[in-house]
Amino acid sequence: MYDENGRPYLDFFAGAGALNYGHNHPELKRALLAYLERDGVTHGLDMHTTAKRDLLAALREYVLAPRGLDYKVQFPGPTGTNAVEAALKLARKVTGRESIISFTHGFHGMTLGSLSVTGNAMKRGGAGIPLVHATPMPFDNYLDGQVPDFLWFERLLADSGSGLNAPAAVIVETVQGEGGINVARPEWLRSLAELCKRHDILLIVDDVQMGCGRTGPFFSFEVAGIEPDIVCLSKSIGGYGLPLALVLLRPELDVWSPGEHNGTFRGNNPAFVTAARALELFWTDDLLPAQTATKGEVVESALTAIASKHAELDIAVRGRGLAWGLAFADADVAAKVVTGAFDRGLLIETAGADGEVAKLMPALTIGHDELGEGLEILTDAVADAAH
Ligand code: PMP
Repeated sequence: MYDENGRPYLDFFAGAGALNYGHNHPELKRALLAYLERDGVTHGLDMHTTAKRDLLAALREYVLAPRGLDYKVQFPGPTGTNAVEAALKLARKVTGRESIISFTHGFHGMTLGSLSVTGNAMKRGGAGIPLVHATPMPFDNYLDGQVPDFLWFERLLADSGSGLNAPAAVIVETVQGEGGINVARPEWLRSLAELCKRHDILLIVDDVQMGCGRTGPFFSFEVAGIEPDIVCLSKSIGGYGLPLALVLLRPELDVWSPGEHNGTFRGNNPAFVTAARALELFWTDDLLPAQTATKGEVVESALTAIASKHAELDIAVRGRGLAWGLAFADADVAAKVVTGAFDRGLLIETAGADGEVAKLMPALTIGHDELGEGLEILTDAVADAAH
């Protein structure tokens, strides 16, 4: 990116995960311009336009069919939180139960339902949220392995005197993005999926930030071999940074009546066009996940080197694919690192409950030179912050 004076910046923030394919990808831009040139429908509500047809076909052909997945697709509105709200509402309607289980440090959006399943109190802004019927459960490693996963929860469920209402659904990020790049182990995710199955609880994976290849495979949950009942997608599904959200639901869960859940901008056809083209460009072969894995190794080794060079800062390195975090013991150091990186021309953001994590999410399409350059800037910024 360049500022108005022509000063260059490397963007390792990538629209908080909305730009997995980079800024202004030429092929996506071409598809968008061609659509606008031929006066394609821009706002289509529920019209079955050619743009929507092509996106649904691309999703089936390049994403769902190769993975043996069968989901219906709902267009809940333009943003991630719209997908989460629709998922929560659907789970409650399907099961006839009200309670939703969420996870410590999870983040799901800024509207009331999604905020009520968000862990970070700062994000809830002292506004009397969470709502009733949302219960946090410890995310992987939250209890430092001292309590066997989910045992306590199963006891609560089995005990009619526990006071726990049987939940409609569990909502989880497989890697918590805003929570500070907290990575759930595949075996933990499998246990969670089995728990949900045993107790007839719907499993919602919020892949708004970690989907579309951010962790390597298209869906972040593929690493665990699980099949969620409902999946929320947004951010990079639009391909070009245009607003778009999707809810994927097992076909038998589709109990919606027409008009029961919608949003005016659910028919954002220009975003359908770039979304379809992005799926076609990047998901017809296995090149992107392999490249992401290779680049992820480069990031991991640079971050590990930073952490061992500055043992006094007590830095933890966490990540998967191309979502990485440097978790500092002191949030002030993380803030200094992010500011110092900006001054040197690298955009990164902080994450974590107290902003203690410097978070790196470069575009999956980043070149090796740019990746190396950004990591060098980061290395210098940490060295400066350490003094
Ligand atoms: N879920 C997750 C996992 C997210 O990271 C975000 C955004 N950071 C959201 C939901 C909400 O998306 P939006 O801001 O587009 O509403």
